[in-house]
Amino acid sequence: MADTRKIAQHLQRLAPLSQQLDLPADKRQQLWQAVYDYAERFLSQQDTLPAFVDGQYDKAQFKDQVIPEQGQPIAPLLALLQERVDTPGLNPASGGHLGYIPGGGLFPSALGDYLAAIFNRYAGLYFGSPGAVALENHLVDWMIELFGWPKTAAGNLASGGSIANLTALVAARDHRKITPENVRQQCIYLTQQVHHCVHKALRIAGLSFAQLRTIPMDDQFRMDVEALSQQIRSDQADGLTPMLLIASAGTTDTGAVDPLGELHQVAKENNIWFHVDAAYGGFFQLTEEGREKLKGIEAADSIVVDPHKGLFLPYGTGAVLVREASHLYASHYYQASYLQDAEMEGAPLSPADLSPELTKHFRGLRMWLPLQLYGLAPIRAALEEKLWLARYFATAIRQLPGFEIAIEPELSVVLFRYVPRSGTPNTANQRLLSAIHSDGRVFVSSTTVEQTFWLHLAVLSFRTHQPTIDTLLEVCRSVTADWD
Ligand SMILES: *Cc1c(COP(=O)(O)O)cnc(C)c1O
Repeated sequence: MADTRKIAQHLQRLAPLSQQLDLPADKRQQLWQAVYDYAERFLSQQDTLPAFVDGQYDKAQFKDQVIPEQGQPIAPLLALLQERVDTPGLNPASGGHLGYIPGGGLFPSALGDYLAAIFNRYAGLYFGSPGAVALENHLVDWMIELFGWPKTAAGNLASGGSIANLTALVAARDHRKITPENVRQQCIYLTQQVHHCVHKALRIAGLSFAQLRTIPMDDQFRMDVEALSQQIRSDQADGLTPMLLIASAGTTDTGAVDPLGELHQVAKENNIWFHVDAAYGGFFQLTEEGREKLKGIEAADSIVVDPHKGLFLPYGTGAVLVREASHLYASHYYQASYLQDAEMEGAPLSPADLSPELTKHFRGLRMWLPLQLYGLAPIRAALEEKLWLARYFATAIRQLPGFEIAIEPELSVVLFRYVPRSGTPNTANQRLLSAIHSDGRVFVSSTTVEQTFWLHLAVLSFRTHQPTIDTLLEVCRSVTADWD
């Protein structure tokens, strides 16, 4: 048997070292100041920093770094971050980020994350932190109300749109009692423009064994309702079960919003779960124009939105909403003996009961703090500004010789390209994209729709204003000025 005196001696040797983990106030102040200064330098330079730094992949490596046995001062670590992490590649904090789907990263969210990390409240279960759970539920309720849903709905703050989509599709699967035996009889309807994370989610959920029906689109890249109805009728005639309809409220590629109202009618008549992926477009619901465009979304059975896109939060916050709370709960609620203390009669739903996660980041704080500090007015204005900036670009780019757009922007995505008088357009546009990337002041991405290579502009950073768009127009003009 170990002798307690010997154990005590051993503990006395360990304690001085282990106590180093708990920093004293002056040390905390010093570290905080260094991080604050580093972040401030970055923020105050946002107008001049490039949106994209190309070709520094060799510099962005950590292979020469070891995790040391003894700690180091912070200054060289921040210098290392600056050189290797915060410079090469895309700068998503820049207003010049106009590719993929940007967002920006509101400053108060960083403070929310700071507080969440310091207090480390347990936002998984109500018993652990009734306040943290109530705050997250309150944000979910706010989104539920935004989409005009009844109080019977529930939701969850996820890490992003991908996990949010997965969470919703799992709820749909379980509600429809899909099993390995009956999955092949199920039909799932979507378009070629659905986000790839939906396919990933279907696969993870075991639903890729169902019959996936890729419904044709109209000339605006929206699901063709008549084609959907026909497909459903033909599936029913074949003895299959129409199960799930996946619509997009703002596709990533073209910004198209599927005809949600009509799709809902078809879903309802045929007893189909109606899922709307609004990861990109959902928060335009905060604007009058957006509400008009998203009409019908209120009829969905599940909705995904991405606060790290349309609410301008830093990466790491998506949200899933499910019209019937019980459907989300039934798929995700579990009991475990080590959590028996957390079982409380009449407690509100907890995030851990509604998602695959147990212990999780207290994401609510990074969303709640900016909403409270700013209020909704500047957020609504910024979203409306993005819609107008996309229209402004779509109008102006067509006035440049040789440029065309794919479709009138529905929300804030514009697909555009240069059509050379001779030579292949796809090659010319790849060249144009490279030129924009090496200029680096603004960043756009590209996409291929039905074999045509398009440059992809997505205006959704809160830091993007008219001068940013003018810079892109100027780069496009000067790069192509001596072409043809
Ligand atoms: C961004 C996006 C997703 C995926 O969301 P993540 O937050 O990147 O995981 C899904 N659907 C659409 C329409 C999106 O724009």
